[in-house]
Amino acid sequence: MSDCLFCKIAAGEIPADKVMEEDDLVVFRDINAQAPTHLLVIPRKHIASMNDVTVADAALLGRLLDACRRAAAHEKLTEYRIVNNCGESAGQSVFHIHLHLLGGRSLGWPPG
Ligand code: 5GP
Ligand code: ZN
Repeated sequence: MSDCLFCKIAAGEIPADKVMEEDDLVVFRDINAQAPTHLLVIPRKHIASMNDVTVADAALLGRLLDACRRAAAHEKLTEYRIVNNCGESAGQSVFHIHLHLLGGRSLGWPPG
């Protein structure tokens, strides 16, 4: 999608601190980190939010989760949190689906 921040980061049109780049996904550091490790895991395919996922995306979502696991290992984390915010009131501000991978500190529950 031409007017999407994360599509542009995936395409290399906007710089980001990338830690993994694969055929179908990209992992990069959040610009406003909320923990010592705060990574964003995104598909290259533009999907606006969880509400726009179809069953045809099931394997891709599995790949995103597997990328979280591998990115956590890359960061030497065995304890971490994976978050998806879906919709504005749930905290979504960028409408290109992404998983937050947070770790490196104690994380409270429930989230705010
Ligand atoms: P959301 O609020 O949609 O769940 O998460 C979007 C995340 O993207 C936020 O944590 C925000 O800090 C991050 N973000 C927004 N703009 C940029 C950017 O230009 N570069 C990077 N690396 N992260 C960004
Ligand atoms: Zn996009």
